[in-house]
Amino acid sequence: MIDPFGRAITYLRVSVTDRCDFRCVYCMAEDMAFLPKADVLTLEELDRLCSAFVHHGVRKLRLTGGEPLVRRNIMWLFRRLGRHLDSGDLDELTVTTNGSQLERYADELHACGVRRINVSIDTLDPDKFQAITRWGKLDKVMAGLDAADRAGLKVKINAVALKGVNDGEMSAMVAWCGQRGYDLTFIEVMPMGEIGGEIRLDQYLPLSMVRAELQKNWTLDEIDYQTGGPARYVRVKETGHRVGFITPMTHNFCESCNRVRLTCTGTLYMCLGQEDAADLRGPLRASEGDEALSRAIAEAIARKPKGHDFIIDRRRSRPAVSRHMSVTGG
Ligand code: SAM
Ligand code: SF4
Repeated sequence: MIDPFGRAITYLRVSVTDRCDFRCVYCMAEDMAFLPKADVLTLEELDRLCSAFVHHGVRKLRLTGGEPLVRRNIMWLFRRLGRHLDSGDLDELTVTTNGSQLERYADELHACGVRRINVSIDTLDPDKFQAITRWGKLDKVMAGLDAADRAGLKVKINAVALKGVNDGEMSAMVAWCGQRGYDLTFIEVMPMGEIGGEIRLDQYLPLSMVRAELQKNWTLDEIDYQTGGPARYVRVKETGHRVGFITPMTHNFCESCNRVRLTCTGTLYMCLGQEDAADLRGPLRASEGDEALSRAIAEAIARKPKGHDFIIDRRRSRPAVSRHMSVTGG
């Protein structure tokens, strides 16, 4: 699949549920209204859709959410998708998780062919962790990380930089990730979805400031490591591990974009920062064969926009994109 700007689309991110057992302040309102179950694709339908994308040249699949590991019987989908790893049609099957269910699932994920996972942790302070996630418990996530290590899963930590919340702990997180053998990626808050009461401008911390703070304690060597995504990486000389910076607000990363995002209702977003989307549930359910679905996928890829236009500023109090991050999974 090649889009109108010559970019090969080889990476599909799939939000398998909009539900979550946390309520992170930058992601969801506490009283979120979730989708009726009938609108959500079955696991069989998700398998069919993902497999169609693999057939069209997707080499990497990431399951996300909401919290992917709270969806009932989700391991069935991992196991099914694992067959594309066995056949060599897929290079990587991976997951982004809040870690709350990892203790239970780490071994099974590895058995399904998952080798690397992203775990989101914004702070190492249990009280702050609870304040940020509203419903999360840090010790449960830590137990999940221990299980992931034992299972042989390679972990990358994602941390959203939040002004006045975790900005004093960035260096400590680099040290902790170094000790545990994890790469770490910092993410800028993106203006997605109404989150009730919280004001984005107050949360927004440019990563240039995080980087300046880190440089007081660490030697950050520039490296030429690219994943086709929005992260730019350095290597921390003292730990030997990578630190990435996802800076959608201050940098344009769109020219190398290799990905599209599917929601749990079968809506395909060709860009994280734009409203345009294609319905794949209709063609999926219209027939048992995949012809209509293949046509709809090709039409959607032909509409992939050049880039996003996120803005957080004082004149715009409304989010640039009205859907929440949990719809497309980041
Ligand atoms: N529940 C899983 C988790 O937290 O890792 C997967 C879904 S979550 C939506 C994916 C990533 O998006 C997490 O790392 C989260 O911190 C990040 N995220 C959520 N809302 C965000 C926002 N408004 N701006 C930037 N990152 C956000
Ligand atoms: Fe849930 Fe992840 Fe959103 Fe937090 S960031 S509320 S864990 S989906």
